[in-house]
Amino acid sequence: MLEDTIAAIATPVGEGGLAVIRLSGRQALRVAAQCFVPAGVETPDLGSVPSHTIHFGRIVREGKTIDEVLAAVMRAPRTFTREDVVEISCHGGVLPAKLVLDALLAAGARLAHPGEFTRRAFLNGRIDLVQAEAVAEIIHARTELSLQAATEQLAGKLSHKINLLRDQVMNILAHLEAHIDFPDEDIAPATRDQLLGSLREGMAFVEKLLQAAPEGQILRRGIRAAIIGRPNVGKSSLLNHLLGRERAIVSPVPGTTRDTIEETANIRGLPITFIDTAGLRSAQDSLEQEGIRRSHQTLQSAELILHVLDAADPEVHLSLQLTAAIPETRQILVRNKMDLLPSPPPAWPGEAPVCDVSCMTGAGIDTLKDKIREAVWSGRIRADMAEAMINSRHQDALARACEALHQGATALESGSPLEMAAMDLRIAANSIGEIVGQTTTEDLLDRIFSQFCIGK
Ligand code: GDP
Repeated sequence: MLEDTIAAIATPVGEGGLAVIRLSGRQALRVAAQCFVPAGVETPDLGSVPSHTIHFGRIVREGKTIDEVLAAVMRAPRTFTREDVVEISCHGGVLPAKLVLDALLAAGARLAHPGEFTRRAFLNGRIDLVQAEAVAEIIHARTELSLQAATEQLAGKLSHKINLLRDQVMNILAHLEAHIDFPDEDIAPATRDQLLGSLREGMAFVEKLLQAAPEGQILRRGIRAAIIGRPNVGKSSLLNHLLGRERAIVSPVPGTTRDTIEETANIRGLPITFIDTAGLRSAQDSLEQEGIRRSHQTLQSAELILHVLDAADPEVHLSLQLTAAIPETRQILVRNKMDLLPSPPPAWPGEAPVCDVSCMTGAGIDTLKDKIREAVWSGRIRADMAEAMINSRHQDALARACEALHQGATALESGSPLEMAAMDLRIAANSIGEIVGQTTTEDLLDRIFSQFCIGK
């Protein structure tokens, strides 16, 4: 498949300023040259221009001009795929891009599969699998924080750590194998202790990476936060404030938010999906009953609960019964309508963080955003962003590595034949190698790259 020259539209389909068609492979320059007519008479054929230069001209098919374009020519190996690459920018629009692509396909290119450019970058050794995944993370990043983490991953920060870990395991393995080759010489107790120490160090590092996995999930997917409270306390008003626009209907009639509303907002760099629930109370109306049933479901599934109270309501304590069963550490009490109080209310008893706001004036909303961020990280220290982007594939491989390392250590400690420990370490090294793609299968690659869009 690497023999083919592949082409695809690399920009989203639709109308826009520009569209880019990408071409990669051994024949990329020949295919592009066949369709491209340079504007200036002095411009040489695309196939003979210097690398990393841009040329103005027209894409022509069967003598007819399709569009005026710029063609960027990049020769292997200093390209994204390490193959010859041509990127053609044409007018943004569904038709020009499609016709340019058709012309390239007619000239001998093949339509690329989803993620095939990145897959080639991996297969040609320009990036490893963790970096290839980072490309997808960058495209899907929803906040600056996750983008930053993905960019660091693409730069190789996580790969470097994984490679160091694998080297460490391979070193221990090499020592063991040297002793296996000379079965008459028993391993010296001091050497054994040293190897065990190194093994435990590796294990501790794997465990640290595994512990960081939930943070990766948070960065990538964010969390779900339910906004609950009795009718009319200002839940919809709060949602609108947090989203920064009018989404929920705000009304003075209790029970107007009948269905749940879900919207994601960027709160201090984190994607938070807010769920505005229908008022939690007993209702006769069947439609509203359905809303209440869903509210209770939402309460169960949300990772964080913003419990909105009407600070001016003398029966405010009644609201607390709604969430009595939910741990206070998962809640933030939001005392709304502060503007209606003549003086600040007394301190709130209990463990849950409290935030005083007014959705009328906007007071306290910024503090609430800070408290949401604090609650999400719940005191976690994220000194190293690269560790925070462990995904479920890495997690699975690390868990297998961790188990094998534990078994290897037990075997080494108990004085079992060294072959036993060596076998465990080989399993561990393989699992760690899977993460960066040193050991892979076509199946795994298909699974990873099918999540990409065409043209990436
Ligand atoms: P929900 O039923 O909990 O979603 O409450 P809404 O957001 O629909 O608000 C109910 C009523 O309270 C509306 O008339 C809002 O304008 C009003 N309201 C919401 N927040 C405040 C606030 O901070 N101060 C005052 N004075 N009124 C508010």
